[in-house]
Amino acid sequence: RTVYLNGEYVAENEAKVSIFDRGFLMADGVYEVTSVLDGKLVDFEGHAVRLDRSLSELGMKNPITKDELLAVHRELVTRNDVVDGGVYLQITRGAPADRDFAFPDPETTPCTVVLFTQSKPGVTESPASKTGIKVISIADERWGRRDIKTVQLLYPSMGKMMAKAAGCDDAWMVEDGFVTEGTSNNAYIVKGNKIITRALSNDILHGITRAAVLRFAQEAQMEVEERNFTIDEAKEADEAFITSATMFVNGVVEIDGAQIGDGVPGHVSKRLREIYLDESRKVAI
Ligand code: PMP
Repeated sequence: RTVYLNGEYVAENEAKVSIFDRGFLMADGVYEVTSVLDGKLVDFEGHAVRLDRSLSELGMKNPITKDELLAVHRELVTRNDVVDGGVYLQITRGAPADRDFAFPDPETTPCTVVLFTQSKPGVTESPASKTGIKVISIADERWGRRDIKTVQLLYPSMGKMMAKAAGCDDAWMVEDGFVTEGTSNNAYIVKGNKIITRALSNDILHGITRAAVLRFAQEAQMEVEERNFTIDEAKEADEAFITSATMFVNGVVEIDGAQIGDGVPGHVSKRLREIYLDESRKVAI
């Protein structure tokens, strides 16, 4: 695989980063994952805008223009023959001369920029999309700025492991009695024709897929209610689903052992997935 590191295209085993990189020592960095369908980038613009916001919230200057970033994404997709899959992008605060809690001077310590591709042939027809996924609920023990897409992913990784240990696929995190989001996705329930999902705040990541799906839902005359919901309410819902750039829209069929609806992805979830994939393919660049 060819990857991108600080302005150069290199073989993945030749891409080397300093042990003093603050991404490595302090999880001081941000990332984005842009989905690739039929060799084209889905919602590149949305990811580029969120990247800028994450960087500015952490006082980092974007070292690469949007046009350059798009060119790098496309070049990697082409070089690595990605049909379906994604492009991972990470920008960290770079590698100062020594370890220090204080941020280094950006003039002398440039950011580290890394991009690589991940091929996932047939991702839109994944087994999980047919069967739906099972989730457990866990306490949300992440930091308070989940709106910033940092590489600090230890708790979400632990959540995934807790889910696996319970024979499930993912965990929905709960804070003050209400679901925040999944370990790597936004969470929704459906009641009748109404889609319910937590409103945007610092408590959750502002999903690019979430924004698109809610827009498509409204265009399809479905009702959207942005409000908190509990695990108990979710267990009683007609349907539940998640959204993310890598899973698109995917039904949730079990929460803490309780079957949701008929135990298969519901018709609202399935319809939204279809619309999302169709529309995304149309506007992918
Ligand atoms: N919430 C969290 C915590 C995530 O990690 C992700 C995926 N990165 C999402 C939501 C979904 O965001 P997106 O639709 O932009 O992939």
